[in-house]
Amino acid sequence: NHKTIAIDGPAGAGKSTVARMVAQKLGLLYIDTGAMYRAITLKALREGIRTDNPAALTELAGRTNVELVAGSKQQVIMDGEDVTEAVRYPEVCLNVSKIAQISGVRAILVEQQRRLAEKSGVVMDGRDIGTVVLPRANYKFFLTASPEERARRRASELATKGYTIDIEKLTREIQERDYTDSHRAVSPLVPAADAIVIDSSGLGIESVVNMMIDLVEK
Ligand code: C5P
Repeated sequence: NHKTIAIDGPAGAGKSTVARMVAQKLGLLYIDTGAMYRAITLKALREGIRTDNPAALTELAGRTNVELVAGSKQQVIMDGEDVTEAVRYPEVCLNVSKIAQISGVRAILVEQQRRLAEKSGVVMDGRDIGTVVLPRANYKFFLTASPEERARRRASELATKGYTIDIEKLTREIQERDYTDSHRAVSPLVPAADAIVIDSSGLGIESVVNMMIDLVEK
């Protein structure tokens, strides 16, 4: 009976910033499901488990505890270790979509995500929230933007962290990740039939947030 808001869309559409702000304004818990896939990926890389080994990766997901701690910046805690920064490493970005294709891994994370939404009102961002994780969410948004715009945003985000960015390479990587996410067999990235699609190209974060708040409060 508490509010559930699903925000799905491709990489770099501004989902996490928008979702965090909407959650804050509405007093809901923000849950970044991408961070959960990233934490599993980081651990797999550390253990040297190959991305083409679904059984080992599913087993790994089953023995990994990922916690998301709310705050001005959401902290990602994996088995007690703060991996907030580490899950953004380029190595993780390059491999996460491969691991997210594994149905066993998805089943484990989806189950955990549903349990989080049972406990409190949430704004959950990801790829399959409106379609699979919370098909009965009160509000569903699909946030998108052109690949060039998304690459530009990711580049400025990464630049603030001291990375030097080749924008064309980044655009290609984003397009590859979108392609993998949209064409995989399990839970492909598609808007839910009842999702409100918002193209944020040329829109500021504030206006997207306000659009969503207006729709939710109506
Ligand atoms: O949102 P973020 O870019 O951090 O997600 C990283 C990757 O995790 C995505 O490219 C996608 O492959 C996977 N993912 C997913 N389902 C989700 C969230 C993320 O498959 N709900």
